[in-house]
Amino acid sequence: MIGSVEHNRMRIHSAEILSVGTELLLGETLDTNGYFLARQLAELGISTYRHIVVGDNAKRIEKAIADALECNDLVITTGGLGPTADDLTYDVAAKVAGFRLVSDPVINRRIDERFALRKKTRFVACTSISEDKQNVSVVGLAKSHVVYPLVPEGATLFMNENGTSPGALMTFDWPLPTGESRRKAILLLPGPPGEMEPMFLREVRPVLEKLSPERLINRYVHLTGIGEPDAEAAVRDLVDQQTNPTIAVYVRDGDVSFRITQRLAEDGDNEDRTGTLIDLIKERLGVYIYEIGTRSLTEVVCDKLLESGATCAFAESCTGGLAASLMARVPGASNVFKGGVVTYTNAMKADVLGVPDQLLREEGPVSEACARAMAEGLYRLTGADYAVSVTGFAGPAGGTIKYPVGTVFIACRSRLGTRVIERHYTGSRTNIQDRSAYASIDLLYRSIESS
Ligand code: AMP
Ligand code: MG
Repeated sequence: MIGSVEHNRMRIHSAEILSVGTELLLGETLDTNGYFLARQLAELGISTYRHIVVGDNAKRIEKAIADALECNDLVITTGGLGPTADDLTYDVAAKVAGFRLVSDPVINRRIDERFALRKKTRFVACTSISEDKQNVSVVGLAKSHVVYPLVPEGATLFMNENGTSPGALMTFDWPLPTGESRRKAILLLPGPPGEMEPMFLREVRPVLEKLSPERLINRYVHLTGIGEPDAEAAVRDLVDQQTNPTIAVYVRDGDVSFRITQRLAEDGDNEDRTGTLIDLIKERLGVYIYEIGTRSLTEVVCDKLLESGATCAFAESCTGGLAASLMARVPGASNVFKGGVVTYTNAMKADVLGVPDQLLREEGPVSEACARAMAEGLYRLTGADYAVSVTGFAGPAGGTIKYPVGTVFIACRSRLGTRVIERHYTGSRTNIQDRSAYASIDLLYRSIESS
């Protein structure tokens, strides 16, 4: 971070999110930044009153920023910070806030460092490639193409570890119709989520925390193996009675979560009451709870495997490696995750996992017997303590009368034996694949829990 914010005069109660980019209006890109930021602001106790999407058009961006400033303390924009002609957000926002755009030596040095690193990318030839191909160099960034951004002078700048455009926070006096003025802020963030999200979490969030007068306790309860309607029904009376703390129910990545939020008074009784509510949820839904905290199911699974010195492996058919990929996302997974095989065809199921041809012919590749044989074959092949298999019909075509599209068998072999579950999902191919992959991790979790 470069520069500091004038903390003493700025208080952020409300914000508006402005996602900038014509591609968002055309439906080419999903506005995940709005979703990410809305949740972050909720956690910070900053009320989001509106969320707008606007194209790469200077006049419309300017009007949207000005409108947002009329009603809110803070406007957060994402997108349009890059060096190309359609990237207008620095210019327009600086104009609205009355800031000059200048070159910043620290930012420029960072960009030079990134450029030097990128130049190290090289073509590594392999022996079978002919001479002329070996001489092909990677199309790199020519030095003449490096564009140094102009940034608002006097703004707090946030480093972009994954790109070149820094973020910026401008605080300034905004005239009110009464003739008085009020302190307002514009926060400019880059568009690519891979740049924006880490920047926000590492650098921006601590600053907003200081500027938000609201103090909150946020706690999370994560459940697996239960759908949102059932989870919600079990706590409906608590939701209906809620005042402070409040419960919010949401679904993400195959699991249902509750966020319990208590607003703390500036002075007075601030006893933590979230625990009482969590105890009530535990009483009603305890068997489904895998985490009271922030870990994902895969993280909990990896931690539990690590604690017991055990390992796991996956054999996947209809999910094509999705479950293995979810496991590999967890930092340190290599300590507990041996690997995975995608045995999509019958031949692969037979050759790699030793599923008998006769079983495949008589029971079919989507069957309890096949899932069991896959898990058992994988157990022998890898020596993993938990060998998980998934096989099913992801559709849209395929399926049988007995097992229509959406039927999935998942098995887990461990030293205690083999568990098999049958699930029926509806929805698109992707939806069925996603849910099957999460269900396979859920079965792994349950197998670890009961052994
Ligand atoms: P920009 O900084 O406007 O050039 O945006 C660069 C890229 O970031 C776009 O092409 C999108 O792929 C992505 N992007 C921009 N805005 C968003 C958004 N609100 N949500 C998700 N991705 C976005
Ligand atoms: Mg753009």
